[in-house]
Amino acid sequence: AAARPAAYLTGLNPEQRAAVETLDGPVLVLAGAGTGKTRVLTTRIAHILATGRAAPHQILAVTFTNKAAREMRERIGVLIGQSVEGMPWLGTFHAIGVKILRRHAELVDLKSNFTILDTDDQIRLMKQVIEAAGIDEKRWPARQLANAIDGWKNRGLTPAQVPSGEAMSFANGKGGELYAAYQARLKTLNAADFGDLLLETIRLFRENPGVLAEYHRRFRFMLVDEYQDTNVAQYLWLRLLAQTPAGEKPNLCCVGDDDQSIYGWRGAEVDNILRFEKDFPGATVIRLERNYRSTGHILGAAGHLIANNEGRLGKTLFTDDEEGERVTVAGAWDSGEEARAIGDEIEALQHKGHALNDIAILVRASFQMREFEDRFVTLGLPYRVIGGPRFYERAEIRDALAYFRATMQPADDLAFERIVNVPKRGLGDATVQILHDYARHNGVPMMQAARVLVETEELKPKPRQTLGALMASFSRWAAQSEVLGHQELAELILEESGYTDMWQKDRTAEAAGRLENLKELVRSMEGFENMAGFLEHISLVMDASEEGASEDKVSILTLHGAKGLEYETVFLPGWEEGLFPHQRSLDENGRAGLEEERRLAYVGLTRARRRAKVWFASNRRIHGLWQSTMPSRFVDELPAAHVDVVEASNSYGSGGSLGMSRFDKAQPFAGSNYSTPGWQRAQSNMASGFRTTQAPLRREPLTIEGELVARSTGTASAYKVGARVFHLKFGYGEVAEVDGNKLTVDFDKAGRKRVVDSFVEAA
Ligand code: ATP
Ligand code: MG
Repeated sequence: AAARPAAYLTGLNPEQRAAVETLDGPVLVLAGAGTGKTRVLTTRIAHILATGRAAPHQILAVTFTNKAAREMRERIGVLIGQSVEGMPWLGTFHAIGVKILRRHAELVDLKSNFTILDTDDQIRLMKQVIEAAGIDEKRWPARQLANAIDGWKNRGLTPAQVPSGEAMSFANGKGGELYAAYQARLKTLNAADFGDLLLETIRLFRENPGVLAEYHRRFRFMLVDEYQDTNVAQYLWLRLLAQTPAGEKPNLCCVGDDDQSIYGWRGAEVDNILRFEKDFPGATVIRLERNYRSTGHILGAAGHLIANNEGRLGKTLFTDDEEGERVTVAGAWDSGEEARAIGDEIEALQHKGHALNDIAILVRASFQMREFEDRFVTLGLPYRVIGGPRFYERAEIRDALAYFRATMQPADDLAFERIVNVPKRGLGDATVQILHDYARHNGVPMMQAARVLVETEELKPKPRQTLGALMASFSRWAAQSEVLGHQELAELILEESGYTDMWQKDRTAEAAGRLENLKELVRSMEGFENMAGFLEHISLVMDASEEGASEDKVSILTLHGAKGLEYETVFLPGWEEGLFPHQRSLDENGRAGLEEERRLAYVGLTRARRRAKVWFASNRRIHGLWQSTMPSRFVDELPAAHVDVVEASNSYGSGGSLGMSRFDKAQPFAGSNYSTPGWQRAQSNMASGFRTTQAPLRREPLTIEGELVARSTGTASAYKVGARVFHLKFGYGEVAEVDGNKLTVDFDKAGRKRVVDSFVEAA
């Protein structure tokens, strides 16, 4: 009976099987799209578990998205016929990083309940740091510094390691300094940003060999999917875990495809793949050549397109599948028509019995999504937007989350600051400034400052009373969190804070949608054990498809987010010069940028199992302006033998009357077209349909007095009864009582007031 291979091995081809069964030593699987790389990894884990080579908690498995991790977990369960609960180390680099970091937080100057900042918080904090350094934020914007710091973190560089030439690129050489100041601020706030989840783990490992050794012992097997898109920090992280001091061969299996390296702009280094054999001598390299995903025409089109790239390893790909339908290419008058035509095609597919779950729209830039969303809402066509924190980035969602964070993590200043006056309750900038000053002077979180200040008269009676009520609410919610389910708690907080009410009273067009989103947020909390678990998840979500996969919906996602996924039918809209290839890639990275865009096109086409449908529009609104556009050069690179050029019907928009030839390279607008009332109406209708840019910050950033030394709160005051003091607001007075750091002062003019000692000075 021993000779009979396990059921999970039988469907594999010989190369795949070798990749699954070569458990000892380093293995690199280098293969094209749809050849079963991910399947090999999944089966490999099943094999490790089934043969008892390791327990679930001894396997480190890295996927590119949280969603991919969930799917892998499910499939392993199916393969070995039992659910896989205990695989704590299956997840993205970030998810695994945060888990390790929380276990040893104190070794990197954090507490285990540290907050993970999202981009928006990061920018806010950076603004503060820039201004504290006396640099004009308008000239040296926070976003630019954030990009630079992200870039350094992706490359595994600490502030001290930033090359001086690069530090020069921001604020005349202040780059490194600001990076250091930002890191210090993060520690004070007990916070980490995304980059830290890896960088700080690397530091943890380097500075604590004992901790690293613990993980060397723990991880018997390591597996990494999408290896071509690892950045330097991830590579260093992985190498630390894989290379033991004794130099044993690690049981490390990485799979990837150099043609699908699409995150170069985020620091990914395709070289990591090429370097694998050098880093891990004696590695087994396995190539897979049979594509199991797509039809012959789709593979033919994709293969021809990617052959235009120069820097490739080159791979053979074949399929035993039928030729299938040709890839179609169609043009639309404008992006609105494109959305309408695709909507109609999807409805037609649906009528023929195709599941919406099998259909995806892959866009180059997320702004393209909005038009499809609008159209699908009109048609009543169910859809989901996958990928990116878009849903969670909406203002109302961020506000709600800030309430939850402030309840659960009272040291989370950024969360507290975001909602202290939302809805408007009269706690304006002046109040916040006082809270902030106190917090800075005493080295305490703002909420703690608030609790002190509501007992004194630093604040005017009205805001003091309001703040008191708000703090009482936070205490009540924190207490409720012990007894209520987290969804109930969320509803309670949103209601009692007046937040839901604020949107109910709002008369603007978006209010209804925002209320809907808040409901959706509470729904999305289902399935999490508690609020803390949910908040942890939120900090990590890169893909936001939480709703049941059982619902039948069209997926809308970016090409970048589509990595590793597959759909029966794939729509690829917006294949226009400037949008795809994206102008920014061309401008910033020239030929390399173009090649990365082309890999993106390759990724897009190879997501399709049976149908790939390329679209381009002749007019599109880019950066708020209508522009006439030319079909993408990638359209020209599709081979005629695998492609059908489809004439779109003329029943849409004004395309017919203008007599457009869909493939004309240039379609300049006749000036008069702009002035017809119909066009203006169409333009304003469409203008309102575009995704708005990021919500403005709610208040001016606070300044930081960098030189201030934190003092702990509640310490006995330096002032004695009878001392003469001066208070900025109340003037001169005499201390009547001392209670910790709170003073009761008889002011000469203002009368008796309670104040905190950091607001007075000796007179
Ligand atoms: P990508 O490069 O896009 O990530 P991949 O190499 O990871 O692709 P998989 O997603 O693992 O490829 O596999 C592609 C499709 O082919 C999946 O539907 C998978 O189930 C199927 N497949 C892979 N190997 C086999 C096989 N031996 N027999 C049947 N189907 C297979
Ligand atoms: Mg894959």
